[in-house]
Amino acid sequence: AQLSNDDVRSLARDLGVKFIRLQFTDIFGVLKNVSITVEQLDKALDGELMFDGSSIEGFVRIEESDMYLRPDPNTFAVFPWRPRDGAVARLICDIYNPDGTPFAGDPRFVLRKAVAEAAEMGYTMNVGPEAEFFLFHVDNDGRPTTITQDRAGYFDLTPVDLGENARRDMVLTLDQMGFEIEASHHEVAPGQHEIDFKYSDALDIADKVVTFKFVVRTIAQRHGLHATFMPKPVFGIAGSGMHLNQSLMKNGENAFFDPGADMQLSDIAMYYIGGLMKHAKAVSAITNPTVNSYKRLVSGYEAPVYIAWSSRNRSPLIRVPAKRGMSTRIELRSPDPSCNPYLALAVSLKSGLDGIKNQIRPPRSCDRNIYEMTPEERDAEGIGNLPTSLEEAMRELNRDEVVKEALGSHVHRRFTEAKEIEWHRYSTQVHPWEIEEYLSKY
Ligand code: ADP
Ligand code: MG
Ligand code: MG
Ligand code: MG
Ligand code: MG
Repeated sequence: AQLSNDDVRSLARDLGVKFIRLQFTDIFGVLKNVSITVEQLDKALDGELMFDGSSIEGFVRIEESDMYLRPDPNTFAVFPWRPRDGAVARLICDIYNPDGTPFAGDPRFVLRKAVAEAAEMGYTMNVGPEAEFFLFHVDNDGRPTTITQDRAGYFDLTPVDLGENARRDMVLTLDQMGFEIEASHHEVAPGQHEIDFKYSDALDIADKVVTFKFVVRTIAQRHGLHATFMPKPVFGIAGSGMHLNQSLMKNGENAFFDPGADMQLSDIAMYYIGGLMKHAKAVSAITNPTVNSYKRLVSGYEAPVYIAWSSRNRSPLIRVPAKRGMSTRIELRSPDPSCNPYLALAVSLKSGLDGIKNQIRPPRSCDRNIYEMTPEERDAEGIGNLPTSLEEAMRELNRDEVVKEALGSHVHRRFTEAKEIEWHRYSTQVHPWEIEEYLSKY
C-alpha cells in the first residue's frame, strides 16, 4: 500500500504515537536512528530535519557534514513491543545534500539507482530473503556468549525452550509490523533459526531486512538471549546465510518463466544467471563483506564454494528452485546476513541486468555434487571458485567495473578504505589458532 505524508500524520494521531525514530543505514548496513517527538513530525516529513553526516561511518568529512533526512511515508511502522501509551514509530529515510540532491553515500540511493535502471528496461526486481541467525546465551554481566540455547538446555531445568519461545514472539511482532511470514523453523545447527517472509520489490525487501534484524535482536534481548547475524560464530557447525531469491517482473508477468523453453526458463532468466555468475567474485565483497564471512563459505555445510548453477542440488552458488509460473526464481546462495541489504541487492540486480544487456549465457548447469569433482573436472565444466577471503574479494571488486559502477564512486571508495583497514587489523593479529598450532611446536 502506498502511503502519503498525510496518511502518516493521521496514523500517528490515531495510534497515539509520541516518539518517532528516523532511520537510515550507513554503508555497512548498520541501522542509525535520529529520535524526534511527534511535534516535529511535520518538519520531518517536509525533509527539513538535519543531522551531522560526519558522525556516520563512510559518509562525509566534517567540512561537508550537513545532511537532510527525507522520510519515506511507506515505511511507517509502530514498534509493537513499546507501550501503547506514548507509542514509538519509525520512518526509514532517504538522505539528501543541502543543495537538494540525493546523497551519493546513502545505500538506499544506491539501490534506488539500480531499481530505476531496471525500470527503464521494463523490469521490477522481486526478492525473497532467507535470513538465518543464532540465539545465544548472555553471561552474568549481560555480555553475549556463543553458548547456544539448545546445548544450554542440557543443563537447564526450564521445561520450555527459550529459543522457540523467542522465535514465536519474533514472528508475532514482525506480523504486527506488516511482514507476511511464510515460514519459521529451527535450522541445522544448535541454536540456529530461520524466519522467511514473502517476497516483494527490492527496496521494500531491503527495508524489511534491516527492520527484521533490528526486531530479531530486540525481541531476543527481551527474552534474555542474544541474537546474532554474524556469518560463522562457531567453528565446526553451519554458519548463517541469507539466500536471496530473485526474479524479474515485466508487464505483470514473471520474466523468468517461459513455458515453451528448456527447463521453462526464459532467455532473460538465463542471461540473469550468466550476469550473476560473471560478476560473482566481485559481488562477494558486498554480499559477504566481513573477514568472518569467508569462514562460512567452506565446503561441508551447504554454503557455496563454487561458481556454478543447478536446478537439482544445493551445493552451487545459484539454485533454480523447481517452482514455475509466478514463483519462477533463482536463488543466490552466497549472501550472508552481515551484508548491507541495499548494496547487496543493488550489485545483484546490476549484475543480472548486465547479463541481459550483453546476453551473457551461463555455462551449462551442473547437477553433480561439485565437492566430489576433481579440479580437472571442474575446469572442464568452467566452474570457478568464490573468493576465499575478504582480501581476495576486495581485489575482485576493484577490477569489476559493473559492480563498482553499481556502488558509485563514493560508496566504493569509502567501502574499500574501511575494508582495507579491517583486513589489515585481522591479518596482523595473532590468533588463538596460531598459538595452539605453533607455540609448543617451534
Ligand atoms: P528454500 O527452499 O531455499 O528454503 P524458502 O521457502 O525458505 O526457500 O524461501 C523462499 C523465498 O523465495 C521466500 O521468501 C519466497 O517469498 C520467495 N519467493 C517466492 N517466489 C518468488 C519470486 N517469484 N521471486 C522472488 N522470490 C520469491
Ligand atoms: Mg529456507
Ligand atoms: Mg523452506
Ligand atoms: Mg536455511
Ligand atoms: Mg534457501
